[in-house]
Amino acid sequence: MSTRKPYQLVSREWKSSDTVFEVNNVKIGLDLLMIAGPCAVENKEQIFTITEFLSKHNIKFLRGGAYKPRTSPYSFQGLKTEGLQLMRDAADKYGMSVVSEIMSSDKIEEFEEYVDIIQVGTRNMQNYPLLRTLGKSKKPILLKRGMSSTIEEWLLAAEYIVSGGNEKVILCERGIRTFENSTRNTVDISAIPLVKMLSHLPVILDPSQGTGVRDLIKPISQAAIAAGADGLIIEVHNQPEEALSDGDQSLFFDQFHHMLQPLNQLAHFQNRQFDYEKAAIEAGY
Ligand code: PEP
Ligand code: MN
Repeated sequence: MSTRKPYQLVSREWKSSDTVFEVNNVKIGLDLLMIAGPCAVENKEQIFTITEFLSKHNIKFLRGGAYKPRTSPYSFQGLKTEGLQLMRDAADKYGMSVVSEIMSSDKIEEFEEYVDIIQVGTRNMQNYPLLRTLGKSKKPILLKRGMSSTIEEWLLAAEYIVSGGNEKVILCERGIRTFENSTRNTVDISAIPLVKMLSHLPVILDPSQGTGVRDLIKPISQAAIAAGADGLIIEVHNQPEEALSDGDQSLFFDQFHHMLQPLNQLAHFQNRQFDYEKAAIEAGY
């Protein structure tokens, strides 16, 4: 069978039912997937403090960059292997899963060892050798949309991974470049329902890279869930003003706490499981 689209295996024509797979008791593609954590792992105290806070809210997925694709070579580049090990230790202590960005194929063994969901960043969406390597992995892949990529190019990038044999791909809209410069990127909310029509793969939003502005995270997250997103990936920091990367878009703990209740209501409205509330109340928040 072939479809009329240039991509095939990721298309709705190829497979009409939503792709759902389970990680850490969360049915990705069905339940609301919430991934949260700092932009980058900075030190042991930082990552353990943030992980403990998230676990009290019953968040199951910890994000954090260990290999950071920074625009300037003089900016903090990440703790590399040590960063992955710290995230693994923190996540294991609190029963969480690790999400982190890979930048090159030669690190695949390290990521297979420490990471539960492997993130491909916006700058690497068209790194075809890397996509081919990830097609051979058993780990789920979080594939960001290239900042200047069309939806068709993004779905073709996913096709590289799926055609290699790895069907566990989560698409992530993270904003695109436009003439607008009062936000870091322009969040393409329409991409969410559109990609869900074109593809059976789960689609989530990264409002942190998408807007670059912490006060926009809550409303834009709500818009994404209302538009049918399968989840969110959000930057949270114990001391955003001191963060080594992306502090301006990182939520304070109390902001993260206060965005969960409305998201919970939206998730229920969409018949999606998002079971954070009881744990947060028990933790005294
Ligand atoms: C990030 O998640 O910190 C990141 C670098 O994302 P993106 O690739 O979307 O810029
Ligand atoms: Mn970031």
